[in-house]
Amino acid sequence: MQAFEATNHFFDQAAKELELTSNVRTLLITPDREVRVEVAIEMDSGKIGNFIGYRVQHDNARGPFKGGLRYHPMVDQDEARSLASLMTWKTALVDLPYGGAKGGVNCDPNKLSKGELERITRKFTEKIHDLIGPQKDIPAPDMGTDAQVMAWIMNEYAKYEGFHPACVTGKPVEFHGSEGREAATGFGVAIVTREVLAKLKSTVAGTTFAIQGYGNVGSHTARRLAAMGAKILSISDAYGAVHNPEGIDIAELDRHMAVSHKIVGFKGGDTTTNEQLLTMPVDVLIPAALGGVFDAERAKAVQARIIVEAANGPIWPEADQIFNERGILVVPDILANAGGVIVSYFEWVQNLQHFRWPLEQIEREEERKLVSAFEDVYKLAQRKSVSLRTAAFMKAIARVGRAHVLGGM
Ligand code: NAD
Repeated sequence: MQAFEATNHFFDQAAKELELTSNVRTLLITPDREVRVEVAIEMDSGKIGNFIGYRVQHDNARGPFKGGLRYHPMVDQDEARSLASLMTWKTALVDLPYGGAKGGVNCDPNKLSKGELERITRKFTEKIHDLIGPQKDIPAPDMGTDAQVMAWIMNEYAKYEGFHPACVTGKPVEFHGSEGREAATGFGVAIVTREVLAKLKSTVAGTTFAIQGYGNVGSHTARRLAAMGAKILSISDAYGAVHNPEGIDIAELDRHMAVSHKIVGFKGGDTTTNEQLLTMPVDVLIPAALGGVFDAERAKAVQARIIVEAANGPIWPEADQIFNERGILVVPDILANAGGVIVSYFEWVQNLQHFRWPLEQIEREEERKLVSAFEDVYKLAQRKSVSLRTAAFMKAIARVGRAHVLGGM
């Protein structure tokens, strides 16, 4: 099974509850537009580097396409399709006036110089500039991309279309970005985790966690949870993992990361593996790296009570079924990590208004939107006796479907 098929499997579980007809199903799952472009640049060595870039625009019935750009060796058309579809459901679930899109370039940013990354970004923007824009499609950071990449996109886009900072979100704060955007996804993961624990009559303080991935999302999630009193027993990145039964000192880990950029070698815990992290006894497990982490075999070995999907698509359908059967509560990606696109929306609004909001306002509004979406999903799941994922998809599909009906064919 590939990623897009997995996303459609989750869609279909909700579509069944909603009794969607097959032609409406096809209308809603089929991407609106897909582009594949060659991104050829001069490498530092003087040789030509050939890369392939993708942008999938899934649905725009509710507003402009919106979604991240990923730079990773696994990026391909199918992954972009799956992630674009998830963005359609995510923006609808948290009621943003957007549709869904996703894209990226198949490359390994760890093996590229800053100059090469800039040339890839500018060439990719040159190839897709007429498809993106503040009222068409607004990219944002995802795995392997950051505020600097977004700043290059804004600058390159301006060469063709003029000054439009709202053409991309997740920019540096001093370059038309928003306060709170960098931390927004992790902040949101922590808020949603707090809410789900509250439903189980528990609190973040004293609860044990394991977090896979210590990039943008994983690190900000860890910082926020630690500030709420969480006991984070294990954290990993692409190179390995660390474990401390007393809880990892996140501030100390950040000091280590600032120097070595890898978790391995951190003295505040014992070295362990990603595999062990995923199956260790903790209350809450937070995948915050790649998609497709849990297959059936791993799902059987998981010992956590709750899984909060900070990453997009970390659980394959067969694993999802096992978690449901085992009573392991899964908070789905389209809810858990929606904080990022919520603050991207705030950045877009600020750019269009040429006005800045303070951080307190951003965090307050982000929290309000997430808590309200969580409550809606939780209540629907209880009422219909379905999983949180199916309830979240039901809410989102109903909104997108309604927009198609109101807009007309
Ligand atoms: P990032 O590139 O900043 O960080 C990725 C992290 O995952 C790094 O620590 C990397 O070392 C680690 N990693 C990579 N391969 C791994 C492996 N095999 N095992 C363990 N760790 C591994 O990316 P990010 O922006 O933090 O995105 C992480 C996830 O969150 C992705 O699934 C992304 O789609 C999702 N997401 C990101 C945002 C956002 O605002 N950045 C918003 C919503 C969802």
